[in-house]
Amino acid sequence: MEGKSNLSFILNKPHEVVYAEREVPKLQSPHDVLVAVNYTGICGSDVHYWQHGAIGHFVVREPMVLGHESAGTVVEVGSAVSDLKPGDRVALEPGVPCRRCRQCLGGKYNLCPDMVFAATPPYHGTLTGFWASPSDFCYKLPDHISLQEGALVEPLAVAVHIVRQGRVSPGQSVVVMGAGPVGLLCAAVARAFGASKVVSVDIVRSKLDFAASFAATHTYLSQRVSAEENARNIRTTAGLGEVGADVVIDASGAEPSIQASLHVVRTGGTYVQGGMGKSDITFPIMAMCIKEVTVRGSFRYASGDYALAVDLISTGKVDVKKLISEVVSFDHAEEAFKKVQGGEAIKVLIAGPNEKL
Ligand SMILES: [Zn+2]
Ligand SMILES: [Zn+2]
Repeated sequence: MEGKSNLSFILNKPHEVVYAEREVPKLQSPHDVLVAVNYTGICGSDVHYWQHGAIGHFVVREPMVLGHESAGTVVEVGSAVSDLKPGDRVALEPGVPCRRCRQCLGGKYNLCPDMVFAATPPYHGTLTGFWASPSDFCYKLPDHISLQEGALVEPLAVAVHIVRQGRVSPGQSVVVMGAGPVGLLCAAVARAFGASKVVSVDIVRSKLDFAASFAATHTYLSQRVSAEENARNIRTTAGLGEVGADVVIDASGAEPSIQASLHVVRTGGTYVQGGMGKSDITFPIMAMCIKEVTVRGSFRYASGDYALAVDLISTGKVDVKKLISEVVSFDHAEEAFKKVQGGEAIKVLIAGPNEKL
């Protein structure tokens, strides 16, 4: 890759970003491929690092390349790679686990303690010219899926994992707290899994209007009332009677939503924590206990989630194009962060640095 530019978008410290040339990565193994990055979506975690320089115990101590939701074009393949060739368009799965530990061998590689994940300190992200990856963490896009849609496979895989954690099955009722990108995608995946009622809940009317046009069968504007009262209102709005919802997903991380969730879930139902907000909250443990609610966490994605995300787009079951509010060029990358932070956009994509339409 002599002479190729590997211009990267780097966070030095909160609100201080720079562009710098970095060495084009070399293939580490004959199973690796090199991908020219074409599009990258910006999500809440990227914005959080840009604003605060840390998420929980992940602290940016050295300059770090941002970005982890990318699609690109294969430019070089290692000698052992048979399933990809130069020119193939791929969605990048941005975290590579050790493949050897108990979690990896158990199929839950998202829980690998030695995960190397893009734009999670100390590892660099994908807002860079070229990205080297094991070929099995690159998912070939069918011809009718665009590279822009390819950049949305990552958040869709997050939603697939959350909905799978909820064991959503045909005919069920699902409440999704939060109508940001992940909440919207959870609603769409729940529909694709056969849920007959999907209720999107948020505090912003315009987000709910979008949710109704995207995947939700019902919407509810959360009020400044008790969690029990919001739960009652949700049941009424969606015709869930006194029983409540089979599955409740929190994609907001907000304490009032989490509290309402435990009150709206049915006896024997399932609650999944997808959103990340404050690390400690007041949790309605009594409701959980007496209703025997199954409570599950959800973190990133694991075996089969990325492949299913590509399939859901490919078969038209989830139309991720609708989530793309705007595409900005690589040299205006910081604008994408400002737009996502300001809440004026659902998904903003950064085109480039290797632009290909
Ligand atoms: Zn993300
Ligand atoms: Zn592992």
